[in-house]
Amino acid sequence: MTTNPFTEEHNMLRDSFRQFVAKEITPNVDEWEKNKICDREAFRKMGEQGFFGVSFSTEYGGSGMDLWSAVVIVEELTQANAGGLALSFFAHTYLPLPLIYALGTEEQKQKYLVPALKGEKIAALGITEPGAGSDVGGITTSAKDMGDHYLVNGSKMFITNGTMADFIVLVVRTGEGHNLSLLLFETNTPGFSAIPVHNKLGMHTSDTGQLFFENCKVPKSVLIGKENAGFYYIMNNFQEERLIAAISGTSAAEWAMEKAKQYMKERIAFGRPIGKLQVLRHKLAQMAVAVEACRSFSYRAVHEFIEKGPEAIGIISMAKAYTSEESYKIINDALQIHGGWGYMEDYGIARALRDNRLLTVGAGTTEIMYEIISKMIIDDVEHKRKLIDVRS
Ligand SMILES: Cc1cc2nc3c(=O)[nH]c(=O)nc-3n(C[C@H](O)[C@H](O)[C@H](O)COP(=O)(O)OP(=O)(O)OC[C@H]3O[C@@H](n4cnc5c(N)ncnc54)[C@H](O)[C@@H]3O)c2cc1C
Repeated sequence: MTTNPFTEEHNMLRDSFRQFVAKEITPNVDEWEKNKICDREAFRKMGEQGFFGVSFSTEYGGSGMDLWSAVVIVEELTQANAGGLALSFFAHTYLPLPLIYALGTEEQKQKYLVPALKGEKIAALGITEPGAGSDVGGITTSAKDMGDHYLVNGSKMFITNGTMADFIVLVVRTGEGHNLSLLLFETNTPGFSAIPVHNKLGMHTSDTGQLFFENCKVPKSVLIGKENAGFYYIMNNFQEERLIAAISGTSAAEWAMEKAKQYMKERIAFGRPIGKLQVLRHKLAQMAVAVEACRSFSYRAVHEFIEKGPEAIGIISMAKAYTSEESYKIINDALQIHGGWGYMEDYGIARALRDNRLLTVGAGTTEIMYEIISKMIIDDVEHKRKLIDVRS
């Protein structure tokens, strides 16, 4: 793997997306954070400029670039310290859409993927329930086979874009044990309702919803892929989601470290800049080392995913566990360097810290990452399951 995976095309994408973020995102972040939601217009503008579709095929309105283009988008959006908005955008693009892209029928792709990449329809992925998160096999929301249609009943919890979504890639029980299936569920279906979950520690801009399904009648044509194969589809799809988490944690940590560096030059204590204090210089040096370690780790995981697909589960789980834990420590150190001002909203570090806290919980907790890694290294489990490459 080369140390710099970015081509001239990626660099041009970075420049144009950075300009877009400065014009359309940064000026609105405080307002969205206060309102605890962004407006649909933000999705439309992202889609209109083609930024949702950078790594999707041109056939469906994407740019046909590789996964490094998605890395560019994630890094630049994270640099805007808009974690909640980034979560909403990533939960739209990199959670439900790869499943439709890989497994959907042509009709499903035209009806859902194409308008979602344009930002005209908002998507969500509904796995977690009030009684089951890490234990995906324990979900109870069911789709009962009624001959020519399914009847969906149950509820979902903590679903990003839950109240804004036009459609949800919904994980439902269609049999015993791990017999789960994926449905393309339209939120205008009678019997569906959603309420916002506002009492969150951070990620305020992102719309988090609790969803209810009461005798929702949906046609059989909304099934994605094969019935009862949903558990395996979801396990594979987690790999891309975890890579996005690793990249965004690394980028947020780098942002916070740069802020701390700047502050060390400006802040005077005991008659000189705090940047002259060796204890803080060493702290910053340690933060820089940790940022580099996170970057190397997450880039290697992206590289392996491009080469091997979901079989790169080992390195991806390691990168996700390491970067999410380490980035929180780095941002926490950046807050410490800002003293009391770090605890205030003025410098953005407080927001970065509370937003980043989600990373060790979402997309598979750190404990679940260690569970996967330990099975691989102690029990020698290969984790090859029924692999479905969500990129092809
Ligand atoms: C802001 C936010 C946005 C989210 N967005 C989405 C979304 O868009 N879609 C979606 O489906 N979900 C979403 N989630 C849900 C998220 O993925 C889950 O919260 C997460 O997977 C953990 O599940 P849980 O909350 O049920 O915790 P639990 O699974 O109940 O875990 C509780 C604790 O037990 C530990 N634990 C559980 N099982 C094991 C084990 N086998 N070994 C060791 N330790 C274990 C966990 O690590 C954790 O520390 C979101 C959550 C939040 C907070």
